[in-house]
Amino acid sequence: TRALIIGRWQPFHNGHYEIIKKISQEVDELIIGIGSSQRSHSLKDPFTAGERMMMISKSLENLNIRYYTIPISDIDFNAIWVSCVEALTPPFNQVYTGNSLVRELFTEKGYVVKKPELYNRAEYSGTKIREKMLNNENWEHLVPKSVVDVINEIDGVGRIKRLNEKDY
Ligand code: ATP
Ligand code: MG
Repeated sequence: TRALIIGRWQPFHNGHYEIIKKISQEVDELIIGIGSSQRSHSLKDPFTAGERMMMISKSLENLNIRYYTIPISDIDFNAIWVSCVEALTPPFNQVYTGNSLVRELFTEKGYVVKKPELYNRAEYSGTKIREKMLNNENWEHLVPKSVVDVINEIDGVGRIKRLNEKDY
């Protein structure tokens, strides 16, 4: 089995790590789609596709899984989106997603779509982690250690705070 999971990974957090660890025990290979890959430098999508790829590859270094990270930019054309994903990725026969639109689009094309179980969703949430970064709260324990290193290297927290400053 070669499976696909698509997320924005803004940032890659412990819930992502846990679900990928789980999936890696069920499949032979995993394709990790980096959704909204063209987006960066916004409060919802602060990190570039390259930065997100660094977070993922450093975090998965010690997992025994063959995977491919593939940036997938938004096309804003739902009816042909699955074809676009297929054009960018290795072939796959299983899809993991918690997103109802993504589920619908892949199901209509005949794919087997599985819902990943959520780990500690109260804390392991990209939205909540970005809020903590903005509000000077502790966030480091919610992401793999290597993600802390990447975010520090690029001054990711400073970036988020500067993006939140008012224009004058
Ligand atoms: P955001 O709040 O920015 O949407 P997110 O935490 O939902 O961030 P995504 O990048 O949207 O993260 O999700 C990528 C994939 O990871 C999705 O398929 C989603 O179902 C899964 N996922 C997200 N959070 C968890 C979690 N805590 N446990 C397991 N899987 C998760
Ligand atoms: Mg999400």
